Amino acid sequence: MNTSFIIFITSCVAIVITLVILLNFNKGTALAMGGVDKVVDEDVFARQRKRMVEEQIAYRGVKDKEVLEAMEMVPRHLFIPEENRSYSYYDQPVPIGFGQTISQPYIVAFMTELLRVGKDDVVLEVGAGSGYQAAILARLVKQVYTMEILEELGKEAFMRLKAMGYDNVEVKIGDGYKGWPEHAPYDAIIVTAAAAQIPQPLIDQLKPGGRMVIPVGGVYEVQDLMLITKDASSKVIKKSIIPVRFVPLTRTKKGNDF
Ligand code: SAH
Repeated sequence: MNTSFIIFITSCVAIVITLVILLNFNKGTALAMGGVDKVVDEDVFARQRKRMVEEQIAYRGVKDKEVLEAMEMVPRHLFIPEENRSYSYYDQPVPIGFGQTISQPYIVAFMTELLRVGKDDVVLEVGAGSGYQAAILARLVKQVYTMEILEELGKEAFMRLKAMGYDNVEVKIGDGYKGWPEHAPYDAIIVTAAAAQIPQPLIDQLKPGGRMVIPVGGVYEVQDLMLITKDASSKVIKKSIIPVRFVPLTRTKKGNDF
């Protein structure tokens, strides 16, 4: 056996040992980081949320301080399924399962500002989805009633809101086209799915002096975000605000009879 062969073998062994040590070190580091992942995530999400408010919402003209504060306080990522969580603070709608989406942050803030709600108001939402919009409203008003037509989504939203301590939100599974007459009239109504026309029952359930925000238009077309106001003498005024794109308001044969 000559010397260069021994050197070659020794070098090979040294390289293998180094590789094994490096691989183990990285595994160890990754494991150690996994332990603090959650804390790090919350911190990262909080920073992303602050930037979302500044760069997507305030920058585009939403001024209401309480709306901006609610958008900064509510942890949007907790309303989004794990597999899409990294998109929580992107400037876009995000899928929440069952073919539905949580609206883009700016649209949530803009619609909330349009409602001009106060702390004594009672609000109806049609289209609970993840429960995020309801959570934003819950910070601003006395009571939120929200309706969801898809049972699983509605149940999930209910559990989530309860677990997060939103005690002033009630969720009902049913067709929101007909509204929720038991708690009417409402100071404000927000519809977060696009309707072919403005549902008359919702207009009827609006208080004189109340506001309704609703996307109106065909399925998967560009729709009109409309602001409906009912004045003190119950005269209804309809105003088109901006073009938007929402999932459709669907109907059940059985209506509210779940
Ligand atoms: N506001 C929600 C997002 C809404 S997506 C959030 O913050 O996450 C629109 C929702 O409206 C969907 O969940 C859809 O199932 C629901 N929806 C559609 N038609 C409905 C109807 N007639 N009544 C109640 N909810 C309806």
